[in-house]
Amino acid sequence: MCYAIPGKVIQIADNIISVDYFGETRRAKNEFLEISVGDYIYAQGGFVVQKIPASEALLSLETWQELFFKLKEIDQELAKQNKGLYQRANFLRQKHLGNACCIHGIIEFSNHCRNDCLYCGIRKSNSKISRYRMDVDEILEACRFAVKELNFKALVLQSGEDLWYTKEKLASIVSRIMKEFPALVILSIGERDLETYKELYQKGARAILMRFETGNPALYERYRPGKILSERLDLIRSLHDIGYLIFTGFLIGLPQQTEQDILNDIKLAGALNSEMFSFGPFIPHPDTPLRDVPKPSLDLALSAIARARIKFPQSRILVTTALETLDNENGARLGLLSGGNSLMINVTPLEYKRCYEIYPDRVGLNEDITRKIESTIKLLQSIGRAPTDLGLYIRGQ
Ligand code: SAM
Repeated sequence: MCYAIPGKVIQIADNIISVDYFGETRRAKNEFLEISVGDYIYAQGGFVVQKIPASEALLSLETWQELFFKLKEIDQELAKQNKGLYQRANFLRQKHLGNACCIHGIIEFSNHCRNDCLYCGIRKSNSKISRYRMDVDEILEACRFAVKELNFKALVLQSGEDLWYTKEKLASIVSRIMKEFPALVILSIGERDLETYKELYQKGARAILMRFETGNPALYERYRPGKILSERLDLIRSLHDIGYLIFTGFLIGLPQQTEQDILNDIKLAGALNSEMFSFGPFIPHPDTPLRDVPKPSLDLALSAIARARIKFPQSRILVTTALETLDNENGARLGLLSGGNSLMINVTPLEYKRCYEIYPDRVGLNEDITRKIESTIKLLQSIGRAPTDLGLYIRGQ
């Protein structure tokens, strides 16, 4: 988004480039653009997504210069403590990844779903929600707005598992984004055949957001009727083999889930080569079979983030909207101070956003997008986070 710092290309070796951000060097893969040393670019998720004119970059860097070093100081100060679980996680995040923080836009383009997950408000048996599908042009307009007007560099395209979007429709969406307003395209469309995913990779999509929901096979099969955990895990592994960055994780607070399950799930997310961990609290929806289950505590959700950070110090860890919903005032801040270093902002057009009710009273449902961006920037600056890209293959380095 507008909270993004351009980097200067200082070295190129095949399709791996080194990028300078005020003296810090990160690597990024360039698959899509003509780039030379000295050019200015935006990178996301370790991929070069846009090249920008030097005049534009220099103007932006001038406004960032002073702030960049001030933010680092604020972050270092906040991360000095190394005592309790959360502080220790924050200390490790700062030590390994500095104050870099990535922000993705998410567009929820359909709430039709062929699945009947017991926890989810858009499950196919819920006849109470009004269903919508954005058509291809509407999706592209929402993406254009997010990239061109709001300056997002990474977009999550999410939907229920909706086969109305054929391979051809999805391919045309991805290839038009990459041609007309390039960004890191992250797909979150559920289980589709590998041929579809290969085609979408070929068109330029580079990441998949797919949680395994719970790594406990008995719970998985209870809460996702007709589904088998090993099939979901195999699919995630195959998507990694295709070349996608994997963003995965699980729900926290499902009934009968134990603390040991949560620890196992953190390990499993790591074993699936998760480039970004995405786990959020389960929030009961009144029109689902799990309506009477109590919400998990904020502490349970924060401790999962912190434990993941301690186990995988070099990871990206998403602070989810569900965590923000659990505690409107402080959820995002506390998540970022307990090991988190990534956020998502919902850029779905307002009339649709209200209907994508996976759980009720999602935070920010009525908030104007520019206000949301402003408050997010304010939050990030208050805790010293800067939007430099974290670079390529961070977990392996
Ligand atoms: N169809 C895609 C898939 O299967 O990955 C993405 C859409 S799905 C609705 C997105 C995520 O919403 C799921 O991975 C699940 O963890 C989360 N979710 C569903 N119901 C939820 C609830 N009641 N509380 C919190 N998160 C929920």
